[in-house]
Amino acid sequence: MSRKPGSAASKPRRGFDRERAQWVASALTPWFLATQRDLSWRRTRDPYAVWVSEVMLQQTRVETVERYWSEFITRFPDVGTLAAAETDEVLAAWSGLGYYRRARLLHQGAKLVVAELGAQLPRDAEGLRRIPGIGAYTAGAIASIAYDQPEPLVDGNVARVLARFEAVATPSEQLATAPWLWDGCAAILREGSPRILGQALMELGATVCTPRAPRCAACPLAEHCRAKAAGVTAEIPAVRERAASPTERWWALALMHDDAVLLVQRGEAGLLARMWCLPLVAIPEASTVPDRTAVAAIVMGKLGSLRPIGAPVVHVFTHRRWEVHVVVASVRSATPLRDPLTPQTWLREHERPAGGLPTLTRKLLARVWAQATV
Ligand code: SF4
Repeated sequence: MSRKPGSAASKPRRGFDRERAQWVASALTPWFLATQRDLSWRRTRDPYAVWVSEVMLQQTRVETVERYWSEFITRFPDVGTLAAAETDEVLAAWSGLGYYRRARLLHQGAKLVVAELGAQLPRDAEGLRRIPGIGAYTAGAIASIAYDQPEPLVDGNVARVLARFEAVATPSEQLATAPWLWDGCAAILREGSPRILGQALMELGATVCTPRAPRCAACPLAEHCRAKAAGVTAEIPAVRERAASPTERWWALALMHDDAVLLVQRGEAGLLARMWCLPLVAIPEASTVPDRTAVAAIVMGKLGSLRPIGAPVVHVFTHRRWEVHVVVASVRSATPLRDPLTPQTWLREHERPAGGLPTLTRKLLARVWAQATV
């Protein structure tokens, strides 16, 4: 028989009382051990491998990470190998995963771990947070999963589970930083194996206590869940209407020469930093045809006709949406760009550049090669 936790009527905002934390730990542990998904990164306790998996999992589906994590770990098996790699090699291994800033920060972090920490990741969250790219959540995840330390970890999944369990309708955008959630998570982790309990909370949020239609009938916490008891699971967390992401429109220049298309490597800052892409020209509002003057500002010499192909390629980033119109033009010169310092490469169909090739560029190239065979 399960023990009765604290009163369901109260709404604690400073963490759980001990009894309630103990009950959650005792309910979650056997549930997780019996039902956890078999994920590649769960077969290791190597803190470096856990770090890589947690960085990849940010904003990215588990199924996608399954396709990348093993290959990345095979290519960069330890923090020293990653630190010694060229940035372009790291971006190439990350190509298709998106949010490339994560890869750059991971690489910087690896360099710091090697240069200043003797290639050893710290065991505590405070030490881990000094590493570039490791925030409070990732530090808690590495410390709890790799080192079995009771360091709390609150991501969207954990926040949703605990907010519903306590029936606290904190707006979703404030949840991940709410102190009572971090205190509550730490209180639960102290009542058993942090390695198991941290992953169990995340697993419950990902597979049972999902944003829409939580499966309360299959939930190990259902017996004492306050949102379920009050019939308010759909209202927690409170979701505020989000402003629509602004749309930016671009011409993507497919400059063709000798059956090859020109790619340029983007600058060190901003979206898709250091990734290979077609040259982009911003489309002024209300413009419907490629602006030759804007194109001539980046391309030298005689340019054939600018031929738009197909519908625009739409690509959604976290806070903005790009609508990219592909325009094909032939160029005579093999060095057509006005800025000679822009790294560039000519690419034939089925080739790939040395370095990062983002999904957006793959979509644009698919459009280019499809029209080339028409
Ligand atoms: S009972 Fe339902 S709402 Fe409560 S934690 Fe479980 S799945 Fe979430």
